[in-house]
Amino acid sequence: MKKRILITILLFCLTALSFAKNFDFYPNASYDPAIPTLKQVVGHSWGERITSHGEMERYVQALAEASGNVELVEYAKTWEGRALYYLIIASEKNMARLDEIKDGMQKLADPRKINSAEADDLIKSLPSIAWLAYGVHGNEISSTDAGLLTAYHLVAAKKDTVAKSVLENTVVIIDPMQNPDGRDRFVNYFRQTRGRWPNADQKAAEHNEDWPGGRTNHYLFDMNRDWFALTQPETRGRVESYLEWYPQVFVDLHEMGSNSTYYFAPPADPLNPEMPPEQIKWLERFGRNNAKWFDRMQFDYFTGEVFDSFYPGYGEGWPMFQGSIGMTYEQASARGLVVKREDETTMHYRDAVQHHFISSLATAETAATKRESLLRYFYKYRQSAIQEGSRESIKEYIIPPGSDPNRSAKLVSLLLRQGIEVKKAETAFTNSKVKDYYDGQTQSKRFPEGTYLVSLAQPAKRLAKTLLAKQTSMDDAFIKEQLRRHKKRLRDQIYDVTAWSMPLIYDVEAYRAENASSGRFTVMSETVANKSQIRAGKAQLAYLIPWGTNSAAEALLSLVHQDIRVFSSDKPMTLSGKKFPRGSLIIKVKNNPDDLHQRLEKLASETGAEIIATNTSWVDEGVNFGSGNVKFLKKPKIAMAYHTPTSSYSVGWARYILEQQYSYPVTIMNTSQIGRFDLHKYNVLILPNTRGGYTKTLGESGAKKIKAWVQNGGTLITFGQATHWLTEDKVDLLTTSRELKGGKPEKKKKEEKPKEAKTKKTAPDLSEPFDVEKAIQPEEELPASTPGAIMRVKLDSEHWLAFGYDGDANVMVSSRNIFTPVKLDKGRNVALYMPEDKVLVSGFTWEDARKQIASKAYLMHQRHGQGHVVAFAEDPNYRAFMDGLNLLFLNAICFGPAH
Ligand SMILES: [Zn+2]
Repeated sequence: MKKRILITILLFCLTALSFAKNFDFYPNASYDPAIPTLKQVVGHSWGERITSHGEMERYVQALAEASGNVELVEYAKTWEGRALYYLIIASEKNMARLDEIKDGMQKLADPRKINSAEADDLIKSLPSIAWLAYGVHGNEISSTDAGLLTAYHLVAAKKDTVAKSVLENTVVIIDPMQNPDGRDRFVNYFRQTRGRWPNADQKAAEHNEDWPGGRTNHYLFDMNRDWFALTQPETRGRVESYLEWYPQVFVDLHEMGSNSTYYFAPPADPLNPEMPPEQIKWLERFGRNNAKWFDRMQFDYFTGEVFDSFYPGYGEGWPMFQGSIGMTYEQASARGLVVKREDETTMHYRDAVQHHFISSLATAETAATKRESLLRYFYKYRQSAIQEGSRESIKEYIIPPGSDPNRSAKLVSLLLRQGIEVKKAETAFTNSKVKDYYDGQTQSKRFPEGTYLVSLAQPAKRLAKTLLAKQTSMDDAFIKEQLRRHKKRLRDQIYDVTAWSMPLIYDVEAYRAENASSGRFTVMSETVANKSQIRAGKAQLAYLIPWGTNSAAEALLSLVHQDIRVFSSDKPMTLSGKKFPRGSLIIKVKNNPDDLHQRLEKLASETGAEIIATNTSWVDEGVNFGSGNVKFLKKPKIAMAYHTPTSSYSVGWARYILEQQYSYPVTIMNTSQIGRFDLHKYNVLILPNTRGGYTKTLGESGAKKIKAWVQNGGTLITFGQATHWLTEDKVDLLTTSRELKGGKPEKKKKEEKPKEAKTKKTAPDLSEPFDVEKAIQPEEELPASTPGAIMRVKLDSEHWLAFGYDGDANVMVSSRNIFTPVKLDKGRNVALYMPEDKVLVSGFTWEDARKQIASKAYLMHQRHGQGHVVAFAEDPNYRAFMDGLNLLFLNAICFGPAH
């Protein structure tokens, strides 16, 4: 017995040894024993386990301590408190002059600061910078381990000529784990579900995560879409670090489905039109060298078919607009330690790690061997950007402070944080040739002091333009191909949204100027802080906050959070000559804390909200504070559905906006438990968007419960598919239907069906030739899905849901939801899509979808008993970058319970 155990152990050790010996991540490598391996630091070897954040942290610290070629930088912290790091890897000579290198990059990045001789010197003497970023999607696991192995190899493989050349010619920046919170969510799940042996069956639980999965960060954001919106601390830290280095190469390493192979550049169409041909050529150069290595190692790969380079919020995209050669690499995922693939091969985690490791080295090698031409390209990229900006027809974007100065300031701050130069007008000025974002009429316009101006004659022109332009177009051939595919009902190849114009999503006043403005402008050096103070001193009677700005909403939520009593006027008022629009807030001195003034003062300075003291409620026009049209605002107590079947993005965006942008609490509840819980503690319930629909999870009893709760005064807010759920027969909370293509209601009474089937069966007319095109059209299908386009809606300004708006707003449409407006006796259509010729403001949609969506419902309101149903056709909180829609969402929360 004992002998047999011994033999088994021996055999096991031998297998383990032979595994370590036989699996060569890098053929014939020899490593400096002074540099610690992953196994020595955390106990498992490369590719043997899926490294957690804590293990990564220990390893990068050990590596930095042991090697003179490594410096460790902590650049941000996640919401859950995990540190984000990057490693700087370079020769000792370059390590000693990192500041000088950074300074040199800043100069090359702004060719206005140096002459061509100075540029030549820098290009000759500086190393190139290659930035390798791993694991932005936390469940795309192999890249992190590959990042650690790449770092180890570069500093420990002293005899490897590739590593040597990379160290000498390049500064490699390795961000091994871009999404620690998501990574640990995956790692914990995997470690909890795996059994004694890792299971290769793709159906095994260990390969199939629970909701919400590890892709996203704590607030369930896809950080590979967040680069210009900068909503998350991880992204903000990365962009800030990027701008210190201006790398010439930026690679974002991902994973895709287990049955795939490996993807690297060149990318698929469409390419963003702001990418110059020289940049595209470089993509191919990098791709070719990767291919050389992959062919040598017999690794399968593909290029050019799937992943595009159009949206500026990707990890590969945003750096492209700064001049980096930005690339996405994708490795088939083992989603665990071993997986059996459809081609009947077995893929181990270590295989995936090796592929990313080899592509990392190949990339660094290209950056090293082509150091000088890469630096020259980068310098010319930034130089030609300035020239392009002064040559093209649009010379500037002009953003006046407008009706919500803090929202405009936030937009400007975002531009500044991305290294875009913004100027501020010292005095009023006139530009004789400007167009607004909607009618396109050229006019002469005077702008007030404090107006922001983004000239395109700047090194970051291409980023500035793609973020600020009204429209970024996909090329004609690509569109034509999509139309052809659409006709055949083949899936389109549009990978992400087709519109993101920042003035549109922020819904701020903005102009495109064909003339460069002249006047007195200063280049802004820091972001704009929201600050305000109470006007007209300490009040005896009340304080007023005009409604219509995001800051006012922030102030209101802070006030009710502090249990301060706030009223809101449903009618406009003019008081002491100042106009207060509908929704404006009245905070009376009586029945409020004694330190009300101090609290409001603090609030004004923190939120930038306009607060005005008054000692009279006598109005020039409108209603007095004691009017029945002045409503007491009940404190919103918000619950939100969470977990399956909700879309984790939709949950995350709403929660982030409430908790982080507006500092207001929300209770998240598992959807499956909502039917069992007593909801009366809450007066607002949010049902976020969903992929699967709520029918199964909530059931009839859940629907009944929610209905009774609404009858009792609850405000139910729904987005997208949740709105669709409301229209189901058994739910019946919204008296309308989603439309089929052509406009017929999707919902049909059951008894109508046989009749319809009968009419369909009439004998074919043989006198006409058979029209096959017509005959193959589906009888019933949903309208074509709009792939993320900005559309314009018209608002019913008298309705409390639309308070604060001047009659229209921009929305993101990213679905096939088209709702027939509700009838007047059932409810109100607070927002309707604009007519056909005005509805599409930016981006792409299908002709028939555009025609059908025109004048249909975006936001509907229906009363049930004491309560409200507030139904959005789409998610108003899309990626938390639709700042212009915050009020529409918050009006529902703040004003619903009061009406
Ligand atoms: Zn990914």
